[in-house]
Amino acid sequence: MLPEFDLVMPENLQQALENLGQRNPGVVPVAGGTNLTVDMRSRRHTPATLVNIEHIQELTGILQEDDRIEIGSCVTIAEILKSPIIAAVAPALIEAARGFANPLIRNRATIGGNLADASPAADTAPSLLVHNAQVELWSKKNRRILPLDEFFVGVRKTVLQPDEIIKSVHVPKTNRPSASSFYKLGLRKADAISVASVAVYLEKKNGACGQVRIAMGSVAPKPLRAYAAEELLTGKHLSLKLIEEAAKLAAEASSPISDIRGSAEYRRRMVFVLTRRLLTHLAEMMELKDW
Ligand SMILES: Cc1cc2nc3c(=O)[nH]c(=O)nc-3n(C[C@H](O)[C@H](O)[C@H](O)COP(=O)(O)OP(=O)(O)OC[C@H]3O[C@@H](n4cnc5c(N)ncnc54)[C@H](O)[C@@H]3O)c2cc1C
Repeated sequence: MLPEFDLVMPENLQQALENLGQRNPGVVPVAGGTNLTVDMRSRRHTPATLVNIEHIQELTGILQEDDRIEIGSCVTIAEILKSPIIAAVAPALIEAARGFANPLIRNRATIGGNLADASPAADTAPSLLVHNAQVELWSKKNRRILPLDEFFVGVRKTVLQPDEIIKSVHVPKTNRPSASSFYKLGLRKADAISVASVAVYLEKKNGACGQVRIAMGSVAPKPLRAYAAEELLTGKHLSLKLIEEAAKLAAEASSPISDIRGSAEYRRRMVFVLTRRLLTHLAEMMELKDW
């Protein structure tokens, strides 16, 4: 059974922010509720008041701007999956949505809730990290935009203040030839928490690798980028040997734990395998391979 709580149904963003701005740590936003209700049922989290932000118009919809797309924080995973705008700009995010939970959860779970919950296994995080996404945070008094890489602090910890909400997620567009991909390794194909996940973004420049970004999930206290591996590849022609070296660096950047789903050693090895697989796939797709 859920513990008792008050439910506030604000009509707009301003009203929601007023409620969260009461400086009472017992007041929290709820979107799809797929994480929060589980936490409340287990008494891990017992907020006195929930502010329902799910239907607030300013938090919904996917906007096209000249240089970026803006995904409202209450856009659901099911909506992401159907979005041609997201498919064109961030294909890795579509792949993450495809392997996310099950259809029932995808209909309720939001992108904002997934990031705010900050599980190391949050499926949208690696693909958003490789697309250099930013989060737009609003409180009653303040607005700020942060690179997603600076948003996560540790296991289920972010820089989000109690009076702040994620308003939207910005994903930059590029004119350069680019592609991205995401792979989630779970104990089964659907409805599974990832054992390890990797996303890769690759740009082509003068026939070689331009910008490249690699991010990983479930293998450290927070979703993280593999900067050394990225640096190794930037500006280079991609041979299988170079890809293997980069995959090795990505694995070295991980710091996984052993748990019921897999050992730390297995996870680190899977970072190597998935990074090599995605880099090889994207290099072939973009005719960047030098082998
Ligand atoms: C059966 C099941 C399967 C699951 N499978 C997966 C999976 O495959 N992959 C995966 O990544 N996750 C999975 N999850 C976890 C969960 O569904 C996701 O993390 C989901 O995206 C959370 O979104 P929500 O809208 O339901 O968040 P909520 O539960 O409403 O909120 C989660 C937390 O974020 C806060 N919050 C919500 N929205 C905002 C906002 N806009 N600004 C600030 N704070 C906010 C809330 O206060 C709360 O602390 C699963 C959960 C269940 C129950």
